[in-house]
Amino acid sequence: MASQSLPVFVVGAGPTGLVLALTLRQNGVPVRIIDKVAKPHVGSRGSGIMPRTLEVYNYLGVLPDVLKGAVPLPVNRLIPHLEYHSRV
Ligand SMILES: Cc1cc2nc3c(=O)[nH]c(=O)nc-3n(C[C@H](O)[C@H](O)[C@H](O)COP(=O)(O)OP(=O)(O)OC[C@H]3O[C@@H](n4cnc5c(N)ncnc54)[C@H](O)[C@@H]3O)c2cc1C
Repeated sequence: MASQSLPVFVVGAGPTGLVLALTLRQNGVPVRIIDKVAKPHVGSRGSGIMPRTLEVYNYLGVLPDVLKGAVPLPVNRLIPHLEYHSRV
C-alpha cells in the first residue's frame, strides 16, 4: 500500500524536513522536498548533537556516516552561578 501512496510534499530541507523525508522514504513513501533557498546555510547551526538525536540517526541508519565527520566533545564542566543556586 505504501508504494502506491501519493508523494508527500516536504517544505523545508532543514534537519526536520530531511529526517521526515528520510523516514518516509525508508517506509516506501515517495517524497518531494523543496527549500526556498538554493544552497545550504553557511556556518554552523548544529555543531553539538544531543544523544537523543544520535539515537534517531542510528535508528535511521545514518549514524556511521555522521560519526565519520564528527569530533567528540571535550570533557567540560558547567559551573552554575551562585545566585542561581541560592534561589533553588
Ligand atoms: C547560531 C545557531 C547555532 C545552533 N547550534 C545548534 C547546535 O549546536 N546543536 C543543535 O542541535 N542545534 C543547534 N541550533 C538549532 C538548530 O539549527 C535548529 O534546531 C534546527 O536547524 C531546526 O531545524 P528545522 O529543520 O526545524 O528548521 P531550519 O533548520 O530552520 O530549516 C527550515 C528550512 O525550511 C526552509 N523554509 C522555510 N520556509 C520555507 C518556505 N516557505 N518554503 C520553502 N522552504 C522554506 C528554510 O530555508 C530552511 O532551510 C543552532 C541554531 C542557531 C541559529
